[in-house]
Amino acid sequence: MAQLSLDIESVKGFLDPEEGDALYQYALEASRTAPCFEIGAYCGKSTVYIGSACRESGGVLYSLDHHRGSEEHQPGEAYHDADLLDQESGVFDSFREFRRTLSRAGLEDTVVPIVASSEIAGRGWVTPLSMVFIDGGHSYESALCDYRTWSGHIIQGGFLVIHDIFPDPEEGGQAPYDIWKKALASALFEEVEIVQTLGILRRV
Ligand code: MG
Repeated sequence: MAQLSLDIESVKGFLDPEEGDALYQYALEASRTAPCFEIGAYCGKSTVYIGSACRESGGVLYSLDHHRGSEEHQPGEAYHDADLLDQESGVFDSFREFRRTLSRAGLEDTVVPIVASSEIAGRGWVTPLSMVFIDGGHSYESALCDYRTWSGHIIQGGFLVIHDIFPDPEEGGQAPYDIWKKALASALFEEVEIVQTLGILRRV
């Protein structure tokens, strides 16, 4: 079980505890060799799992999110949370809540937040990564951009982890599953396992 310094149920988010434990275990192994990287942090639930593993191993987690919310987080949409609207501007902003989570979890010396889009952050990125967790926007364009931008930085033996894998279209959107299939078809990755909707691949 993951060793966390706060009650994970108190952190807003859409990650099942079993998926979180899997993230923690893979990050614990991976983070000993190179930094971990996540795309789509929201209020920091996955960040707590991966970051806690990195803290334990003496590693680092880069956590990327523009913190303006995905399509489904906007006012009027299914996953909108009015608590996350900036009172002054009326714009969605999960960064303040994200920082609060990092502080509560004691992860400010382990996690490096990057507040930007995948596309901009990826333009100058050259650091090899031991694990990339993709949990960003669920449009096909977003998922494909995240996959194309970050998967090439994963070192041999490192992990590509994708959230919200639904092989059955009745169960959920297909973009994460599409990039999962793309990764397998590339022959650069092999399947390790799927934990609920969390798909784990290894860079061969
Ligand atoms: Mg997700």
